[in-house]
Amino acid sequence: MEVYNHDLIILGTGLAGLRAALEASQQSKGELDIALVSKLQLMRAHSVAAEGGTAAVMRQDMGDSYELHAWDTVKGSDFLADQDVVDFFVHEMPKEILHLDHWGIPWSRTEDGHIAQRPFGGHSYPRAVFAADKTGHLEMQTLYDTLMKHTKKINRYDEGFVTSILIENGRFAGLTMIDMINGRFVLIRGKALILATGGAGQIFGFTTYSETVTGDGLAMAYRAGLTLKDMEFIQFHPTGLIPSGILMTEACRGEGGTLLNSNGERFMGNYAPSKMELAPRDMVSRSEMTEIEAGRGFPGPDGLDYIHLDLRHLGRAKLLERLPLIREVTIKHIGLDPIDKPIPIRPVAHYTMGGVHTDIKGHTPIENIWAAGEVACVSLHGANRLGANSTAECLVWGRVAGEEAARYCANASAAEMPKTAEQEWAKIEALIQSKGTEDHYQIRKELRKNLDATMGVFRTGEQMEAGLKKIRELKERYKSISLKDKSLRYNTDLERAVETGFMIDVAEVATLGALTRTESRGGHARRDYKVRDDENWLKHTMATYTEAGPKLSYSKVDISMWKPVERKY
Ligand SMILES: Cc1cc2nc3c(=O)[nH]c(=O)nc-3n(C[C@H](O)[C@H](O)[C@H](O)COP(=O)(O)OP(=O)(O)OC[C@H]3O[C@@H](n4cnc5c(N)ncnc54)[C@H](O)[C@@H]3O)c2cc1C
Repeated sequence: MEVYNHDLIILGTGLAGLRAALEASQQSKGELDIALVSKLQLMRAHSVAAEGGTAAVMRQDMGDSYELHAWDTVKGSDFLADQDVVDFFVHEMPKEILHLDHWGIPWSRTEDGHIAQRPFGGHSYPRAVFAADKTGHLEMQTLYDTLMKHTKKINRYDEGFVTSILIENGRFAGLTMIDMINGRFVLIRGKALILATGGAGQIFGFTTYSETVTGDGLAMAYRAGLTLKDMEFIQFHPTGLIPSGILMTEACRGEGGTLLNSNGERFMGNYAPSKMELAPRDMVSRSEMTEIEAGRGFPGPDGLDYIHLDLRHLGRAKLLERLPLIREVTIKHIGLDPIDKPIPIRPVAHYTMGGVHTDIKGHTPIENIWAAGEVACVSLHGANRLGANSTAECLVWGRVAGEEAARYCANASAAEMPKTAEQEWAKIEALIQSKGTEDHYQIRKELRKNLDATMGVFRTGEQMEAGLKKIRELKERYKSISLKDKSLRYNTDLERAVETGFMIDVAEVATLGALTRTESRGGHARRDYKVRDDENWLKHTMATYTEAGPKLSYSKVDISMWKPVERKY
């Protein structure tokens, strides 16, 4: 085992991780010794796939306001967002847009040179700042370029697959990492950790998320004793391309795209007459499923019946200027040009609202661990996230965590050498040597199919109970898996196997949380408990690890600004 020592370890190099690195580096005038760890090449984090935009109040002169952004976010969250967190967020966000602007991002602009903004679901003002439909990609590029200009001491561990977070005497002490390139076991020690490992979209079969988004950080934090919050709330995005699930950004509807059923009707008028296609995602997804279940969808492959997303009326010029990636993707993947034909879409698993519990500063209950971005649950999104609020969250809490952790590192010493590192490697070695008969790829496939079937847009207690039983059966079978590749260098067989173990834990927490929550709220819509129940369920679900499975408890929601009301659009 090789050992490396640094001040600050940032695990994950998506928007949250890069923003944190930049802030920590600037705070310390480039002097802080930072390790940036990613299981991928640095720029391949899922953040590069963000298409449509990043929400911020930029035009108070034109009628937008902090209060309005906050209200939209709280209402969108079905009142499960912490309102003090939302208030902090809306005030911080415009600064992030201007930072990126000064660092050179090519934001799309209006004729008169202002930063352009487009409408997004659930926002009552066109509030999404964008760079065509490649927003995340250009944000990542800009942060990385700027980081390279500022820093003196960034140590990149690209293609370093982290398998555990080690705690010693109640403090973070290090990460165990497989250096995929050289096939070595590595221990990275640091004074503090910022966890920025993104979400868990891949626990579903039909998802917009990259193959690599397997909830590793969620599971590792949970196993290390941190609490996972509100994991039952999974967002279904209304427009996943048939049959792959590739995202057709909400900007398609922001730019004027419409949804049509098989009778050619713009059905959203029946569900959300004031916002139509730009109602929040949970509502649009439920409306689509209701149309499909009533026989007004189109028959699709493998039961993936669909709806039409129609962009034809936008015209060629607007499509080429505002949605070039969408057109490229539909032409390349299904041979369809949206200039001439409507796009086949249906709701698709997209985003994990829940995550590692943190306070308003992104700080976890462990003194030297922060979490930021999609892996974290600072309680900004509650039960349903608004589009364009996620890249925004990554920027705000990447910044905050970077600042806080850098300050901490300036006055702290590293934790003691973790005693458990050797045990972690013994487990990995045992897995490599295992002669078990179970196929971990098969287990992953069954897990994802199970979540599609039991934790979808609409849920029932009966289905989720069966789903949980199946997850626990897979957890048992997982104990007897073996690998085909016994080597260490670029052993993706090993990496996939460990990831599948993470996915099982995340799926178990999400399903148990959902089964226990006997109400419908935001992205959690139950057929057997159709209404929101504030009396009993206006609270966050908190899950902690035990040998026997997740243990649930509940915590208070901050409703200091607005009392919950019925959610209508
Ligand atoms: C197709 C798509 C489009 C989207 N569009 C938008 C949009 O327009 N607007 C918006 O606001 N949001 C959008 N979202 C959501 C948003 O992009 C994500 O929530 C956000 O980018 C997540 O960023 P992150 O920094 O938290 O994590 P990620 O970008 O997912 O990065 C995770 C990092 O963690 C690393 N990592 C994970 N596990 C390990 C491990 N075991 N060992 C080592 N490293 C590890 C990865 O290598 C990676 O570097 C979109 C999402 C998708 C999928």
